[in-house]
Amino acid sequence: MPLLGAHVSSAGGLWRAVERAVGLGCETFQIFTHNPLRWHGPPPVASAVDEFRRALIESGIKRVLAHASYLINLAGEGTILNKSVDAVVYDIELCFQLGIDSLVVHPGSAKDGPRAEATARLAASLDRVLARTRDKNVSILLETMSGQGGALGVAHEELEGVLDALAWDRRLGICADICHVFGAGVDVRTEGGCARFLSALDKHFGLDRIGCWHLSDNKGALGSGTDRHQHIGEGEIGLTPFGMLVSDDRFADTPMILETPKDGIGDEGNLAVLRKLRGSEKK
Ligand SMILES: [Zn+2]
Ligand SMILES: [Zn+2]
Repeated sequence: MPLLGAHVSSAGGLWRAVERAVGLGCETFQIFTHNPLRWHGPPPVASAVDEFRRALIESGIKRVLAHASYLINLAGEGTILNKSVDAVVYDIELCFQLGIDSLVVHPGSAKDGPRAEATARLAASLDRVLARTRDKNVSILLETMSGQGGALGVAHEELEGVLDALAWDRRLGICADICHVFGAGVDVRTEGGCARFLSALDKHFGLDRIGCWHLSDNKGALGSGTDRHQHIGEGEIGLTPFGMLVSDDRFADTPMILETPKDGIGDEGNLAVLRKLRGSEKK
């Protein structure tokens, strides 16, 4: 079965994220290792790393992901590009220290420029990141995007081309975000639509390349290019694809991470909805 979890806050110390995840009954979780609106945080003190690792071992949670800074644009140019490569390398080194196995990164943006050139810059940047972190067993998961602001990662072909340019390095994978793909125009609302989407993922990447899922509904309409995250089943998408995903054995042990709003029913309520769809109780 897939692993169900949520993006949890690490306010008050990284180990507090583990505490929050355990409190929610998460089987996996995602964190920001630092403020995502900064390039990187201060270097972590050794005791904070130890505390996090100890809490993780005690929790029994095996799969943990980090989400990289929002400032990163691996498809950017000049200073931004170099800062982005440094920031991803920094995050990978930090993940490695913390025992986090995967880093979710937005593919970046072409802004107003040609997408093909931006995609080539993304591949070249990832090549630099991989070369500088060869001894760190941390996966880089490129997230599927809804397309705001010239974002890359909307079409499967684009991301497939990037993986192909890097000879399908085993450390590269995809983070499939349901809210984003719906915003990008993929109609996953019906069983047939969701099945077609999964076939497309299989064709372009192979399902084994889907390193994690981001689960949230979308307040925005199909193809609106927006990603207005909403509670599971309470947006324009509805429950159908979520029910299919959480019970799909092809994603056994694959993290499925809630990125739903923290208000209203919150993570607790949304996890309860997913567990019900999966037909299992809180551990
Ligand atoms: Zn993201
Ligand atoms: Zn996401």
